[in-house]
Amino acid sequence: MDLSNNITVLLLAWYTKEKRDLPWRRTGNPYAIWVSEVMLQQTQVKTVIPYYERFLHRFPGLEQLGRASLEDVLTEWRGLGYYSRARRMWEGANYLLDQRGGTMPEDYDALLQVPGIGKYTAGAIASIAFGQRVLAIDGNVLRVVARLLAWPEPVETARSHRHFCQHLTEWQPALQPGDFNQALMELGAMICTPSKPNCESCPINQHCEGYRQNDVLFYPVKKPKAERQVVTRLTFVLRRGGRVFLQKRPSQGLLADLWEFPGVELPQDNAPKDSLPKVTDGEWFNHFQKAVPEREFDRQVREKFEQGVSMKGPVWYTFSHRQWKIIWVIIDLPAAPFELKTVDKSLLKEAGEGYRVDAQEAHLSLDNRTWASLTDLSLIALPVAFSSIVEDLCQTH
Ligand code: SF4
Repeated sequence: MDLSNNITVLLLAWYTKEKRDLPWRRTGNPYAIWVSEVMLQQTQVKTVIPYYERFLHRFPGLEQLGRASLEDVLTEWRGLGYYSRARRMWEGANYLLDQRGGTMPEDYDALLQVPGIGKYTAGAIASIAFGQRVLAIDGNVLRVVARLLAWPEPVETARSHRHFCQHLTEWQPALQPGDFNQALMELGAMICTPSKPNCESCPINQHCEGYRQNDVLFYPVKKPKAERQVVTRLTFVLRRGGRVFLQKRPSQGLLADLWEFPGVELPQDNAPKDSLPKVTDGEWFNHFQKAVPEREFDRQVREKFEQGVSMKGPVWYTFSHRQWKIIWVIIDLPAAPFELKTVDKSLLKEAGEGYRVDAQEAHLSLDNRTWASLTDLSLIALPVAFSSIVEDLCQTH
């Protein structure tokens, strides 16, 4: 038996015996596998499980996902973060409904044509759901292979990728190619972990060059990271009665299409990390005007600024390439002389412990701004970045 067979056989035997019983491993449904793979990107397994089950209950197939409103899909995604994943999957479902009769292609290259499906996801779906002999290389796999080969170069480069693919292709069996991919991922998640690999229990330690060199933690070699930009986000919370003002973010860029408490990003300064920004009396109103396109609150808000407002925060929220230092002010406005659009309570219906929004109707009732009650805040796609503000509102209402 040659080396490649040994690795393959040992790995598959270990996987068969030790793999975790996860809901997406009990299905061969390519749509369900797609959902799980998208959710698992940047999110831990234990977090994903309840979202996965709820999402599939709500959107059991491509048809239900594609026909749902984007608002509805984003709402169901609430709390998982990286909302662009949900939006791309919804676009992909619509593409499949329009262009491919509502079925998932079996072929890797055809899968790559679907919006929201990149190389990794295409490889996972093609190998796991359709038994195709293609690779699915995620961060776990990169780490395991870099250690197995004691590969001395940064793993993100094209040369490293070619080198890894060459070895993985040799090791991947024609039978069970999907199990092979999953076995490597599982090994990376359970044994060959980033900081505490359990090499003694590793089924393929006899083939691991990093282990042989006693230098496992040196691998994988990574490119130095670009420093994350820290941006102060000044946030305006307009409150009237028991409701707060929300507006929709633009369809492009950070947190696209989600709801927000309006705000502005301040120019960078050299202030100490946790300090509050210095905003002069004259600047408050300018910032507010940039944050809120509606002009109907200007007079009342200007009066509040003149009386003085107190800043709260900072709290921190980290995106992949930037970090928000979130500061907020709560501005209590007098009762409205006229009615603004609100989330219509008649659209909420009891379900289990709480309320749920009837998606189709709710979508129609909300456009680009709304006054939401504190209960409504848990029903709409408001980014987790604002959760400290919501907590503050719950304590001070
Ligand atoms: S021996 Fe250690 S470093 Fe090598 S693959 Fe196994 S767990 Fe990872």
